[in-house]
Amino acid sequence: MTDIRQKWRDLVRRHAQCFDRPGDERYWSPGLETAPREQLRAMQSEKLALAYRYLWECSAFYRRKFEAAGLTAESVHGVDDLPKIPVTHREEWLTDQEEHPPWGTFSPLRQEDWLKRGWMLYTTSGTTAAQPRVFRHTTFDRDQWAWIGARCLYSMGVRNGDIAINCFGYGTSVAFWGLHYALSLMGVPVISGGGSNTERRILFINTYRPTVLLCTPSYALYLGRAMREAGHNPQESSIRTIVCAGEPGACVPATKHRLETLWHAKAHDDFGCTEVAPAPLGYTCTNQVRRTDAPVDTHLMEDVAIPEVLDPVTMQPVPEGQPGILVVSNLYSEAQPILRYVMGDWITVTTEPCSCGRTHARAVGGLQGRNDNLLKIRGLMFFPAVIEDSIRQLADVGDEFKVEITRRDSMDHVKVTIEPASPIPKSRYEPHAERVGRALKGSLGIHVEVEVVPYGTLPRTQFKAQRLFDLREKLV
Ligand SMILES: [Zn+2]
Repeated sequence: MTDIRQKWRDLVRRHAQCFDRPGDERYWSPGLETAPREQLRAMQSEKLALAYRYLWECSAFYRRKFEAAGLTAESVHGVDDLPKIPVTHREEWLTDQEEHPPWGTFSPLRQEDWLKRGWMLYTTSGTTAAQPRVFRHTTFDRDQWAWIGARCLYSMGVRNGDIAINCFGYGTSVAFWGLHYALSLMGVPVISGGGSNTERRILFINTYRPTVLLCTPSYALYLGRAMREAGHNPQESSIRTIVCAGEPGACVPATKHRLETLWHAKAHDDFGCTEVAPAPLGYTCTNQVRRTDAPVDTHLMEDVAIPEVLDPVTMQPVPEGQPGILVVSNLYSEAQPILRYVMGDWITVTTEPCSCGRTHARAVGGLQGRNDNLLKIRGLMFFPAVIEDSIRQLADVGDEFKVEITRRDSMDHVKVTIEPASPIPKSRYEPHAERVGRALKGSLGIHVEVEVVPYGTLPRTQFKAQRLFDLREKLV
């Protein structure tokens, strides 16, 4: 093993406090989670300087990128030097892997390390490219994911004595693998419901009484409704914590309310990013999740990542409390310590203390949506989550909906297709549509055509939902 690789692993391990058991009743790693912010910054600086050297020596992609920016091996000593490092975009990864198949030159991981200590190969879904992007991780990375995931789940109130059911598909996508290992580290047994169908998962819940449900928010709604239709009451089930990932649902107030009412459980949010933060980056705490007056905030795990908020045009930092796009540097991976990766989600960050006692910054209201998903409709800007929130505030509207945006007579036209929350006679469709249209005009400020279709008509989402279709470009 090269000296620099060993040094990087040693440094990451040295800062991983309470690696295999919780430090106290409230925090898994109390010394990190409640550290004074100056101490956090010093830790970030120490790790960033070595991560930079590690990439300089071991990643051909980053070496080219650093040299092109006029940097040397000695250019980065800490967080103050971060702006010198050029940002990395998703497309660069794709190009690199196309030019240097099959792995690209991004990762500092060597083939011999992969063969000796490889853990898993992950891919993107492949919807935007014929060849999905591929990511390799080592057992060192797996241990970090487990520890970081345990800290995240502990902050949500998951404890030894819980039982979890993980409804993720256990395929080659990153999400939930880390949480699976985190639960094992915590001594929480896992029912791997990923390969089962909904009927079987309902049977698992009723029979083995898991207390923690892990899935997308769309699927948590679907599963709860399916339980009801099968004659069981999800409110009376054993589930008390829902860990949502893959979609912003637990930070969309109306969706969170639906989830918590349906299950009589707390709905938490966990988010990361396949490229730069495969283990949790943002997570809710038990104090935030109790809020009902505003969207909940997610903590950002700042000792294992550096989140920056930049203006999307100038790529310069915006002041705290102002919205910008999220750019992240990884401070724990052996295989993928990516620096300044443009996640591209809009975010507003605060370092105001949280009542839970954690000192790490928070994303106000969670992630707001990706910059490339921002919709301009009749001159107004909307994130899909805002439209979701408006629709799901209406109690007599079902969970599934479809939004289509087209252009008619040079004007943007929005059509929302909904179902009633329960079967109603056809004669009530029209007044129902008119009422919903008026409500959406009130909340969104634009006219929306509403079509009501029979209950059970719209496709049920079992993983990530595709509910919004912007068809305008195709019509131009
Ligand atoms: Zn908190």
